Amino acid sequence: MSALLSVRALIKHFPVRRSLWRRIAGQVRAVDGISFDVERGETLGLVGESGCGKTTAGRCIVRLLRPSSGNILFGDVDLVTLTETQLKPFRRRIQMIFQDPQSSLNPRMTVGDVVGEPLRIHRLATGGELEDRVAALLGAVGLQPGDMRRYPHAFSGGQRQRIGIARALSLDPELIVADEPVSALDVSVQAQILNLLAELREQRHFSCIFIAHNLSVVKHVSRRVAVMYAGRIVESGPVESLYARPRHPYTEALLSAVPVPDPLIQKRRERIRLQGDTPDPAELPPGCAFHPRCVYAADVCRRETPVLREMELGVEAACHLTDTLDLKGVKSD
Ligand code: SF4
Repeated sequence: MSALLSVRALIKHFPVRRSLWRRIAGQVRAVDGISFDVERGETLGLVGESGCGKTTAGRCIVRLLRPSSGNILFGDVDLVTLTETQLKPFRRRIQMIFQDPQSSLNPRMTVGDVVGEPLRIHRLATGGELEDRVAALLGAVGLQPGDMRRYPHAFSGGQRQRIGIARALSLDPELIVADEPVSALDVSVQAQILNLLAELREQRHFSCIFIAHNLSVVKHVSRRVAVMYAGRIVESGPVESLYARPRHPYTEALLSAVPVPDPLIQKRRERIRLQGDTPDPAELPPGCAFHPRCVYAADVCRRETPVLREMELGVEAACHLTDTLDLKGVKSD
């Protein structure tokens, strides 16, 4: 399978300005050199705590943000080098689903206008044809054609996310970046939206980058997962092997929070509670950025930054001690 998207050494730094003259006093290293591929028809989970850079990475890929450096190869075109005008045809092919459907939908537009707007902007349909296509999109996400005359505020959170998904699908994209699409929703609604996305992906064969802050959500939708910490990928691999045998202590901690279906096993499991917060991306600790929170940290971790290296085919981890640790995973059902 050939990669639809290849991200290489992607960096997004934001300047920190201080003093009366707004001089640049440092850099927020939001995304600090990440590389990954997304194959055609594949869903890649991008996971990490709030502030790890996953949303910034997603926004760079859809070019809502201009990367500081690196390459975003979509097919054989590097999106980083394109001007706004040159980007226009690619905006059709790459869409984003936002975390908060409440704020991402214009409250003054009807649902029909929200979902049909991309088709109008790209001059793909007008009049009756536009209405038919909007009705079909609403049907595809489990809403009624009559809903196009209503306004977003008349819908529940889950229904609003369905509207956001219909809009993202309107241009029949090849890649969707879904930025925490269920984290603002009630737990009871999350599974419905995850199932809907999985069904739509089966039917429409788009690739997806699914951004989430916990591993239990991505398990159901992704084949591969990349775990981010402090702007970098610290582990990546197929979802089953990452669950069964994590190679990075941060992944182990995230997995310890994933509930397992067997109540007896669940009762015996020990939750690893990470001490402290994620580091300030403007002042990352030296060495391994995770060392102040890592229960396994040794001297080398405080001195030297671990690089991502291949542990086995398709599995990578960035940890000095990975070969000596016996990290606990969870049984993937
Ligand atoms: Fe922990 Fe050291 Fe591995 Fe970093 S390199 S995750 S501090 S053991």
